[in-house]
Amino acid sequence: MKRATPREIVRLLNRTPLILMFDIDGTLCEIVEHAGDARIPSVAQAALRTLSGRSGHGTHVAFVTGRSAVDARRMVAVGGAVIYGNHGMERMSAAGTLDTSRGSETESSELREAVRELASVVAAFSGTSLEDKGLSLTLHFRAMDIAQLPDLNSRVANIADRLALRLAQGKCVINVLPAGGATKGDAVLEIVHEIAGHSAGASILFAGDDVTDEDGFRTLRKIPGSVTLRVGSPNATSLAQFSLDGPRDVHELLSLLVTARS
Ligand SMILES: [Mg+2]
Repeated sequence: MKRATPREIVRLLNRTPLILMFDIDGTLCEIVEHAGDARIPSVAQAALRTLSGRSGHGTHVAFVTGRSAVDARRMVAVGGAVIYGNHGMERMSAAGTLDTSRGSETESSELREAVRELASVVAAFSGTSLEDKGLSLTLHFRAMDIAQLPDLNSRVANIADRLALRLAQGKCVINVLPAGGATKGDAVLEIVHEIAGHSAGASILFAGDDVTDEDGFRTLRKIPGSVTLRVGSPNATSLAQFSLDGPRDVHELLSLLVTARS
């Protein structure tokens, strides 16, 4: 992974159509103690709206996030952009229609059982909370004493093993996912095909910061014109080609793109 500047990334995105795909938490906004308090700065929201409004000129914006699509739409406040929520398992169209068919129906009863069992785990570990996003679960532990993490991990892994659910460690979260549901890799591929078909002429960007974003990076490695961007330390292990230090660099990238594409 090469540490890049926003300007270097913009120079690589020189084709039309231009497909811009973003994770939200840790990518467009800083991660905060309570996920409900996270905000994308209004300047960045405005840049996203401007870029999204240029679809008639071949610039497209989409979001691919672990949040539920409904929650993500509230956060980004960008009309006309497609949102894949729940790590790729649900899709909200530009018009706001929600499609949850990418989840794994057969495993929904296992997820419901996991909600019941994780409730007792959350009760036993102070500073944790469980977020039920329907198609997946997120156990938050940002406020927990970190010395308890090995115990927490083993309790959660036990439950997931028994119910054949998949775990994805994130930043102060453990995501609990059905083993057979769609991933962020499936989501980015669908977005690219929907906009550019199978032609190789597009510039494609996917920016993310966390474990489930690696599915998107892996998928895009095979697609010409793709630029994969991990937000965070350049020393992390990642399948992305480039790194930017933090959400602020992503905001600068957005404003440079507005200038480049207007
Ligand atoms: Mg993230």
